[in-house]
Amino acid sequence: MAVIDLGKNNPNRQMQRQRQPAAGQPMQMNIDLKNCEDIMCPSCGSEIFIDASKLKYISPLQSPTGKPTVAAVVVGKVCASCNELFNPDVWKRLKELKEEKP
Ligand SMILES: [Zn+2]
Repeated sequence: MAVIDLGKNNPNRQMQRQRQPAAGQPMQMNIDLKNCEDIMCPSCGSEIFIDASKLKYISPLQSPTGKPTVAAVVVGKVCASCNELFNPDVWKRLKELKEEKP
């Protein structure tokens, strides 16, 4: 969770928490991505996706620092072209339908 500080009076304070690999996370995969299929947007066919986040306002009462902050919660990937939120299940279903055709 990335945290953006709204307070402007303390610019040196490190608000972005260091991302550390948590225990139990999948190991680094040794896969040649050149041999993997490109995923395209089911709606428009674009291959570029952007991280989509919901922003949560944390009021001074809720904030551990006592200052209002904004937290970003990543919800998935959106197509850079049509802004559709990518749904892996829909994509898989469409792929299976395509492959079932003779
Ligand atoms: Zn799209």
